[in-house]
Amino acid sequence: MILAEAVAELSHKALSADEPEELLRESLQIAIDATGADYGTAVRRMPDGAIRVAHEVGPQPLPTGTTLPLAEERSYVSRVLETGRPFVSADLRHDPRVAPPQPLLSRGIVSSLAVPVRGAENVMGALGLHSRHHRRFTRDDVAVACALASVVATAWEQAAQRERLRHQALHDPLTGLPNRTLFLDRLNQILTRRPGSDAGDPDGVAVMLIDLDHFKEVNDHFGHAAGDHLLRAVGQRLATVVRPHDTLARLGGDEFALICEPVKDEASAVRLARRMQDVCRPPVDFGSNHISVSASYGMTWSPQGCSPGCSAEGLLGEADAALYRAKSAGSGQIRVFDDRMERSTRRRRQVEADLQVALDRDQFRMHYQPVRRSDDLAVVGVEALVRWQHPTKGLLLPGEFIPIVEQSGLLGDFGEWVLRMSCREVARWQDSTLEPLWLAVNLSPRQLNDPLLPETVADAQREAGLQEGTLVLELTESALMMSEGAHLDALTLLRKTGARLFLDDFGTGYSSLTHLTHLPIQAVKIDRSFVAGLPVNRRNAAVVSSLITLSEELGLTLIAEGVETSEQLRTLRTMGCQAVQGFLLDRPAANPDLERSRLERLSASGAGVAPSAGR
Ligand code: C2E
Ligand code: CA
Ligand code: CA
Repeated sequence: MILAEAVAELSHKALSADEPEELLRESLQIAIDATGADYGTAVRRMPDGAIRVAHEVGPQPLPTGTTLPLAEERSYVSRVLETGRPFVSADLRHDPRVAPPQPLLSRGIVSSLAVPVRGAENVMGALGLHSRHHRRFTRDDVAVACALASVVATAWEQAAQRERLRHQALHDPLTGLPNRTLFLDRLNQILTRRPGSDAGDPDGVAVMLIDLDHFKEVNDHFGHAAGDHLLRAVGQRLATVVRPHDTLARLGGDEFALICEPVKDEASAVRLARRMQDVCRPPVDFGSNHISVSASYGMTWSPQGCSPGCSAEGLLGEADAALYRAKSAGSGQIRVFDDRMERSTRRRRQVEADLQVALDRDQFRMHYQPVRRSDDLAVVGVEALVRWQHPTKGLLLPGEFIPIVEQSGLLGDFGEWVLRMSCREVARWQDSTLEPLWLAVNLSPRQLNDPLLPETVADAQREAGLQEGTLVLELTESALMMSEGAHLDALTLLRKTGARLFLDDFGTGYSSLTHLTHLPIQAVKIDRSFVAGLPVNRRNAAVVSSLITLSEELGLTLIAEGVETSEQLRTLRTMGCQAVQGFLLDRPAANPDLERSRLERLSASGAGVAPSAGR
């Protein structure tokens, strides 16, 4: 009765025991007391097949963790583990069924009882009771041992379950690598453990961020299964070059991170990044596809760990700043953090925060620059160009903030604001202008990745009551050149909203005339760098004139940007370019002059036209 109560109480404890070892000790002690044995032993089968002592109670106990020498096939422990049945021997020295167990005999043990510790799936170990007197353990003894073995089984399974959950919470399921939480935790541990900067340890800590280049395109072109496969492959390859005690983690998406410690200097860290680049270089096979990706590396190296200002988040922020630099420099680059970056990171963060405020407080303004027909200078469209009415810095041009918007999480909201606002403003003018005019809105390449874009574009037109066929989206070559797979779908969906597509800045990107033949566009804008050379620069003139011929053949409208002189205007007209846009005729303005008469007079006089004021 008392025994039954003790077992019940132990079973209860087993469900919540944080320290299975303590529970083992209690269980073994109860078994010893109930059976009058001298020793109680719990042994456990490890994942590698070794049998270890989990706990032992008795005089001269074997320490926990001792590996039992079970090389002999006929050991009584292996017998229990394999058969899953209890084993009783009155005299181990002369038992023909088993080899004499030295660890027991050497301590004067002669009689034993062993029962399996049975888990849900397999036998996890064995519980043994041993006596230094020659005796035969009874059926009741076996029953006691079995009851306690089941308590031990519960405790072990619970511990394994807790360990599984802990592992899940701290690891990335796709790659099995540590996740962000564990990464930061390890980094914090390293930083608190390391001596301060005045201690003599010359080595440092390197923190590295590794971000795949153009991973999104892999997903788009080959599908998510391919993307996942690639991430796993990259994780495995990176793991081959880091040391076992370094922490390689996947922080999320296509971003991996590494803590290396100790690392002698910055140069060693860079060498490691090069090795990582090398192992990642060979294409990864996925079905019949060979997928190559490069990665960008941003790292920081900190000597002697922890100065008061150096925290895990701080180091990660530095590595992130370096990664940002690496990404800005193109793909496959390695950058190490330095103080200059810190200043520019701080600036960038500040601008990002300011941009959020600008969105919230309506500090953006739309200006419009007319596009005119070359021959009679009638306004055929306007291009919407955003400005930032900054509370202290005045009116800022897009060059000063668009690149930051594009790299931040604000692009979606910002792009939507631009679309809605310009549709609304232009719809209002449409009531008062006689001729139809188009509204061209610039899109950043990354906006094409937004699955909600077509919906937003449709909605902005509808909400503003914009006349059908008015909206045009301007995209640069690099955005359009990716028009395969998902991108092409995005373009098709955009066309379905009724919007037309113009190719912007022609001549600055990959610039191939042949590309024009298969893009879903209605007009091409020649970049102002080509217009600037007219009419003197013969190469520019040749490109412009062949572009004009080709556009005519393809039924595309050709628009020349950045027309600044009447000579340029004359040349473009003579060559047959249909539309022009530039400071000669108009500056972008909140309320552009959509009349034709003034300019007609000016151009008829053939005089250079002084650019109007404004930005
Ligand atoms: P873009 O699309 O090539 O726009 C034309 C730029 O050329 C405008 O600069 C315009 O003011 C300028 N420009 C027009 N005529 C002349 C001229 O005769 N001479 C010279 N030197 N420049 C001329 P802005 O407004 O500073 O915009 C710069 C770029 O910022 C734009 O280049 C466009 O790529 C981007 N951008 C502007 N607004 C938006 C927007 O709302 N969304 C996005 N995603 N990008 C925008
Ligand atoms: Ca444009
Ligand atoms: Ca342009």
